[in-house]
Parts: sequence; C-alpha cells; structure tokens
Amino acid sequence: MTADRATGTGVTGIDDLPVRDELRGKSPYGAPQLDVPVQLNTNENPYPLPEPLVARIAERVAEAARGLNRYPDRDAVELRTGLARYLTRTGGHPVAVENVWAANGSNEVLQQLLQTFGGPGRTAIGFEPSYSMHALIARGTGTGWISGPRDEDFRLDVEAARKAIAEHRPDVVFVTSPNNPTGTAVEADTVLALYEAAQAAGPSMVVVDEAYVEFSHRASLLPLIEGRPNLVVSRTMSKAFGAAGLRLGYLAAHPAVVDAVQLVRLPYHLSAVTQATALAALEHTDTLLGYVEQLKAERDRLVAELRAIGYEVTESDANFVQFGKFPDTHAAWRAILDRGVLVRDNGVPGWLRVTAGTPEENDAFLDAVRELMKEQER
Ligand SMILES: *Cc1c(COP(=O)(O)O)cnc(C)c1O
Repeated sequence: MTADRATGTGVTGIDDLPVRDELRGKSPYGAPQLDVPVQLNTNENPYPLPEPLVARIAERVAEAARGLNRYPDRDAVELRTGLARYLTRTGGHPVAVENVWAANGSNEVLQQLLQTFGGPGRTAIGFEPSYSMHALIARGTGTGWISGPRDEDFRLDVEAARKAIAEHRPDVVFVTSPNNPTGTAVEADTVLALYEAAQAAGPSMVVVDEAYVEFSHRASLLPLIEGRPNLVVSRTMSKAFGAAGLRLGYLAAHPAVVDAVQLVRLPYHLSAVTQATALAALEHTDTLLGYVEQLKAERDRLVAELRAIGYEVTESDANFVQFGKFPDTHAAWRAILDRGVLVRDNGVPGWLRVTAGTPEENDAFLDAVRELMKEQER
C-alpha cells in the first residue's frame, strides 16, 4: 500500500511485478531474529571473537583500507593459500591453492556451483530433511529441485538414494555431513556409493556440504576429492570459526572445478575487507578450534541431559541437537520461547533443533525443556 501511494503505480506487492513464475507466492529464507535472552536457533558460535583477533582484524583491515581505491585481488590468492593450508592441516588430505575457491559465505559458493553445474533445464537432489537453502538456491538459479529420502532415523538410506539418483539423473547431488537440522553424519562409503551412482546416471557433480565438520566425531570427507573431479567439499567460517558475520565460505575440489566456477563468479566478488578479515581469523585458528572443543563437550552434555529428561535425541555430529518428539511442534517451540529461549522449528514434524551455546545458555535451555516435560506429563 505504501508503495502504491509512494509511486502511484497501482503496484501493491511482489505479485504485481513481472517476477519469474517460480518465485510467485514464495517467502524469503528467514529464521526469526527475535530479541530474547537466549538465542539458540541459528547454529552460530556463541563465543565472540577473542580480543587479540579483534585487534589483528583491525590492523589487517586498516592495511586493506589504504588500498580500497583499487579493486581487490580477484582471485584471492593469499586467502585461498591460507585456506588450503588449514585444510591440509586439519582435513586429512593435502590441498593446494589451485584446489580451493572462496566466496561470500558457503551459500555463495553453493550458488556459484549451481550456476555452473545446474540452471534451467537441469536438476539437483538433496536428501531431506536437510539444509533448506540447497532447495532455495536451486530455485534462485532456475535449477529444478528433487527431494530425496532419508530413513526414519534421518540417516541416508544408500539403496533409496541410489535409486532416486538413477531415476532422476540429477546434475547436482547434495550430501550434507553432518546434516542440518538432524546432526547426522554420513560415512565415506555412502558418499562413494552415491558418487558412483551419480557418475553412472550423469555424469553429475556431488557436493558434500561440510559446514559443521569441525564439530564431528568423524574425519572430514575431504580426502574423497582425490581422483574424483566431480566431487566438491564445501566449508564455511560461519560456524567453527565463529565468524557468521564475516560471510566467508570456501570449497575444495579438482582445479578444473575452481576454473569452472570462475565462469559465473562476479568480478571482484570478495571484498578486500573480507579477505583481510578472513586472513586474520586464519592466524588465530588454534584459539578458535579451542572453542570448538568446548562446544563439542556442551553438545554431548545437551544430548545426555535431554535423554535423561526423557526426550528423544538424534545422534549429533554438529554444534546442535535435534530433539523431540512433540505432538504439537509449534506449541513446544512457543512454550520454550515463553521461557526466554529461542530454538528452531525446521518444519520436521515432532522435532525441534537447539544450538549448543555457552554452558549458561545451555543450562537455561535445559531448565526450560525440563519444565516443559513436567507440564506435558501432567
Ligand atoms: C550454516 C550452514 C551453511 C553456512 O552458510 P554460510 O553462507 O557459510 O554462512 C552452509 N551449509 C549448511 C548445511 C549450513 O547449515
């Protein structure tokens, strides 16, 4: 209505504009950003960056600022070299700068992959429930979306997944490990089976989304890229590195994949400020990975205490825990919110997801769900 009055055009909303058919009637991605005392709904790291790192970022950004009259390094070579070194050190497989590509969050990495390997007339498959952005980025890039199955414990059912790949012959296969929102990790053998199925039906790209791998009990799937040019591992600094606000994601793959995504990336997509900040964060890797160890211990405590209270919990390899089961999921979400704790309703019937926060935040959450259980028993 405001737009109407402001422009006098008679346009009152999105659907009065000539938007693409597949966007009509859709809503944007949106986890509620509510102002409540305990926010455990978006899998962020609860620890602010340590002060020495904040100071180092200020230094590096000041240096970058002196050159902001120029475009940034289009190929982000120094940053990709640093990321390659980090992956080599922690991922169980040596990678070089040619294997690594970086963008504004892994969401942009995934978008570039779908722009390159998906697009109109092509399809991508994911095994749901999983990260809802895979389907949304598919839609945004004009890629058809296929919802593949999981078993009732939210694990990847290899036979069902292979069947779905053989039947639909998707161009891109998403495997999220550990999976969001369930926390479920995927075994290397399973990824290899899906890769074979995807090459037999395709050839198609297999994208392993490892946003949470630093929190896993298991090793990274990074070594699988060796000898498999159609396999991509995507990573992010949003979770383990505690830098969701930075917007820095990256991938590791065969150098040909890195060449291919450069066909669609916008020139100078990664600002000099972003590159400088990410480089500073990499200098403090050890401190940041120390927080990850604390969060893993808190995650394990959440699992144990939720079970002790009487909830069902899905095995988690991530920094969050899926718990239930609730006869009315939304009412349970609301009841927890009324006690000052924001968790996530991902639309999985019967289940909610809580992010591991600080010990104090987790205690507040556990108090809330303990009360909720008592109420439900009454
Ligand atoms: C949080 C998350 C990401 C991270 O996205 P960024 O754009 O890097 O912040 C990617 N994949 C999954 C499965 C996630 O949950």
